[in-house]
Amino acid sequence: MGRKWLLVLLLIGFAMLVTAGCSKGNEKSVSQGQVNSPLNIKVLDIGQGDAILIRTAGQTVLVDTGDIGTKDKLVAYIKKEGITSIDKVIITHPHADHLGGMPGILENFKVNQIYDSGQTTTTALYRKYLSLVQSKKIPFTVVTAGTEIVIANDVKLKFFAPDKPFITTSDLNNNSIVVKVIYNEFSMLLTGDAEKESEERMVKTYKTELKSNILKAGHHGSNTSSSPSFLKAVAPEAAIISLGANNDYHHPHPSTLKKYVEAKMKVYRTDTDGTVTVSSDGKNYTITKEK
Ligand SMILES: [Zn+2]
Repeated sequence: MGRKWLLVLLLIGFAMLVTAGCSKGNEKSVSQGQVNSPLNIKVLDIGQGDAILIRTAGQTVLVDTGDIGTKDKLVAYIKKEGITSIDKVIITHPHADHLGGMPGILENFKVNQIYDSGQTTTTALYRKYLSLVQSKKIPFTVVTAGTEIVIANDVKLKFFAPDKPFITTSDLNNNSIVVKVIYNEFSMLLTGDAEKESEERMVKTYKTELKSNILKAGHHGSNTSSSPSFLKAVAPEAAIISLGANNDYHHPHPSTLKKYVEAKMKVYRTDTDGTVTVSSDGKNYTITKEK
């Protein structure tokens, strides 16, 4: 073989490597485990905290990871689903009841991308999270309000918060990532622990764009979230509250439940219903309870 051919072969090989590198973005189409509908969202029963598993035929996305004490339960749950790698993990904010399971996730699954609110804190848990992310060289993106990410044909994530400058009137909750899962006519809004200051800002900026079929109740059903103007803009048919039974914070607040009932929303809660599963074909949706 002449030198010229060798050069051509090397160039082709290099081009193939580059292409393979590019294709690991949004078009990834490796299916793992069972997905019975094009979009499946599980608000997992992991006690006091949030962990929401979103699955399409091609992608697995985890929004928050529950608290430190339920880390093994979360890992076991995801393994049981037949999942070995997670395409995207979204950490709404670095409080322990959202970030606590992350070391377990990073030690047990291949995580391809992390989306973070960009808020920092000084806890040992947060430092462990950052050092694991660095040592595993996981791509780490700080979310900006307005960003959209496609996760499957016709399924996208749209971020409404945190916006800049950060809200400083409260703690980390108010700069939580807020993300809407949109699949054609269906949508579900995941709000982390965003409180009324963040809700007011989103209503002002995004108005009717917030409208969603289902709301993951802000801050575990606390009365610091679910403000009337926000509920009016989102106008959900159902709310799912993620919380632990007999929790120390007395979540959900009776006044929040009253608002939901008055707005004729169906209310689901992980402390009494177990894991709550939402399935959609992009037009219709079903909500099923574990218990
Ligand atoms: Zn929380």
